[in-house]
Amino acid sequence: MSGIRIRKLHVRPLNFKLDRPLETAGGQIGSWPVVILDMHTDAGIVGVSFVGCFMPMLVKPVVSLLQDMGAMIEGDELSPVSIEAKLRAKSRLIGTQGPIAMAVAMIEISAWDALSKASNLPLCRLLGAKPRAHPVYLTIPAMTPSRVRELAQRALELQYAGVKCKLGHPDPSKDLALIDAVRSVCGPNFPIMVDYNQSLSVPDAIQRIQRLDDMGLGWIEEPTDAMNVEGHVKIANAVKTPVSLGENWHNPMEAARDILSGAADVVMPDVLTVGGISAWLKCAALAEIRGIPISAHSYPEISTQLLPLAATPHWLEHAEIFDSLFLNPVRPVNGNLIATEDPGCGVAWDEKVVARSAWT
Ligand code: MN
Repeated sequence: MSGIRIRKLHVRPLNFKLDRPLETAGGQIGSWPVVILDMHTDAGIVGVSFVGCFMPMLVKPVVSLLQDMGAMIEGDELSPVSIEAKLRAKSRLIGTQGPIAMAVAMIEISAWDALSKASNLPLCRLLGAKPRAHPVYLTIPAMTPSRVRELAQRALELQYAGVKCKLGHPDPSKDLALIDAVRSVCGPNFPIMVDYNQSLSVPDAIQRIQRLDDMGLGWIEEPTDAMNVEGHVKIANAVKTPVSLGENWHNPMEAARDILSGAADVVMPDVLTVGGISAWLKCAALAEIRGIPISAHSYPEISTQLLPLAATPHWLEHAEIFDSLFLNPVRPVNGNLIATEDPGCGVAWDEKVVARSAWT
């Protein structure tokens, strides 16, 4: 396998139309800017990765950075860790967040995908683990009880093992109504996780979560600003429900900060945001050291490959947002997802959808 070299990065920006519009506090979202990356190698193998850019204005910088970084690694050996180290060394002065970090993580993931394909193994087997079933929840991107009921029904029909609701309504009783909406469809024991998306002050968070503490919720995600470590320590100490952090970690050092300080009871790094596959696995090692359950934020296709490598695996998340972009989108079976045996990291483009989603 050694000796394979990177030939060229092919970068494609997409304006991806969502199958179902997302309902958010800021209004409806009908399409999502996405950048997809194909890493071509001299062995004919192509490694892939993608990122959902939250804002259209991020698309151009990400595309341009990927193209420029592609030129920097053309001809390099297909060694994901070395490639990442090289790109990080060159961007260290700029920092480890934002478009540069997104581009480096995409390149790292596509390199692992290509290396797995070159080894004719799924990523988890390449790294030494058997595919395993892990429970998966459906994230419900809705803020009204009627829409939440509809999507909770969908979660039951599609055999999800739990759901996650977005909370943070100015009127706390409206948050309770969303949880009630799920309970009315899924019953009293169905796992429900909730996510405040960093919207509360620390005292507000403590007060509001204490009101939810006897509801048996799976976890409370990012109640306050993700960078507020002391605030999260205070919250975690004051409430019974586990506090979950991780989707906004930009490197394993931030994971260490939150895990070692007791800011998080459970964690959920995002493979792209945290810096790629190696970075996610370093977070898993930190979680193991403290006996903290680790889930994966988004990217269920890749994350089904990562959780079998963790010693304290917890939940997979699926929001179904990008499913139609893939040839084989993940589907729960009896509440679980299991890594495919296909070589690579689990992503293959539906080129018809890619073609009709071209960025214009
Ligand atoms: Mn979240």
